[in-house]
Amino acid sequence: KRFHKDDYKYLKDSDGYAPLYNHFDNFYVRRLKFRINDCFSRPTMGVPGRDTSMSLNVSSYNYLGFAQSHGPCAEAVEKAIRNYGLSTCSASTTCGNYGIHLEVEDLTAKFVGKPAAVIFSQGFGTNATVFSALMGPGSLIISDELNHTSIRFGSRQSGANIRVFKHNDIADLERVLREVISQGQPRTHRPYTKILVVIEGLYSMEGNFADLPHIMELKKRYKFYLFIDEAHSIGAIGPRGGGICDYFGIPTTDVDILMGTFTKSFGAAGGYVASSTDIVNKLRVTNPGYVYAESMSPAVLAQIKSSFLEIMDESPSSIGLERIERLAFNSRYIRLGLKRLGFIIYGNDDSPVVPLLLYNPGKINAFSHEMLRRGISVVVVGYPACPLLTSRVRFCFSASHNKADLDYILRACDEIGEKLQLKLSSGAAGED
Ligand code: PMP
Repeated sequence: KRFHKDDYKYLKDSDGYAPLYNHFDNFYVRRLKFRINDCFSRPTMGVPGRDTSMSLNVSSYNYLGFAQSHGPCAEAVEKAIRNYGLSTCSASTTCGNYGIHLEVEDLTAKFVGKPAAVIFSQGFGTNATVFSALMGPGSLIISDELNHTSIRFGSRQSGANIRVFKHNDIADLERVLREVISQGQPRTHRPYTKILVVIEGLYSMEGNFADLPHIMELKKRYKFYLFIDEAHSIGAIGPRGGGICDYFGIPTTDVDILMGTFTKSFGAAGGYVASSTDIVNKLRVTNPGYVYAESMSPAVLAQIKSSFLEIMDESPSSIGLERIERLAFNSRYIRLGLKRLGFIIYGNDDSPVVPLLLYNPGKINAFSHEMLRRGISVVVVGYPACPLLTSRVRFCFSASHNKADLDYILRACDEIGEKLQLKLSSGAAGED
């Protein structure tokens, strides 16, 4: 039973009116009993134990370690603030575009292998507004069921028809495609003006990669447009950090729209859309998240630009390439270690996002507390963010974790795993 009759008193004030805060209040009142409050107050850092007031961070998306305050980008950021100040106080379409905005757009396009790119001051805002500029009534968006909230929000906002396919399930995607178009049917005779399939490169709650090779096969047969959200994959996977296409060796020219954020591998803020020059130019004049929103802060641009320069440096002493390799090593090392200890983990072997299954929702709180007691901050995930019975802890690894950090985390998981009975008989989850 979800409500007690006393709960209804939060829906009305003493005059019988519904107060403005009532739903929020009710939501929290109901959930506070179950909420884990660890996340609101723990200071974290990317490296452990050097300062006892901070915990080792295995929860944020600092994949390449560029978010560190002492990292290689800090000087450029400081300089940008001195040169330009923090804010442009204007949208790009009025007077908020400086040379550095264009430089970062060019670097983004070059890095992802597209003719042009446009940048937005918020990653969420990019998805929330881009679909309205591209799609609309009469068109169809076919979306992976586990796509990020920003994609779902933006898709609904666009007024397009929406169909959903089972997560990363190629047969189910084909089923939906067959229901709306027949193979070989000319695009002009379809019941929708355009069809856009929307996926993510790396799914952040599952730790798995999109099955891009098979989706590309379907794309050839059914001739739809493809949009990939690379928020978690750009910079983090592929031999040169180029994301999901780089990982599978698929040319980015075959994908229509590559979206990504700068909040993860770049340690910055904001998002981008990279595509043909025509589409990018269209977005510059029709996308409300670009036309009417404050342009990206110069300090953020400096952070992005300097991390791009590190990542794109192909010299033998490249800090960026060294970090991309370090991240790949860390991801494999920790995954193998956890499997050997007998844990069930989800995702691709090369994925820095590592969900470890707790199953029983009652263990969520205990796992988080036990980790924090050992100076490690983790994200624990329960319903509704994932199904009730696959409650999990979601680790995100970084190139800035060293081997001692990883071994410390493995030891902590080992102890807590025994205590909370999370393991299969030791090693049985093992070597698949
Ligand atoms: N897309 C995906 C797949 C995400 O996971 C997120 C947030 N983590 C966003 C978009 C929104 O990006 P931001 O946090 O940069 O606003």
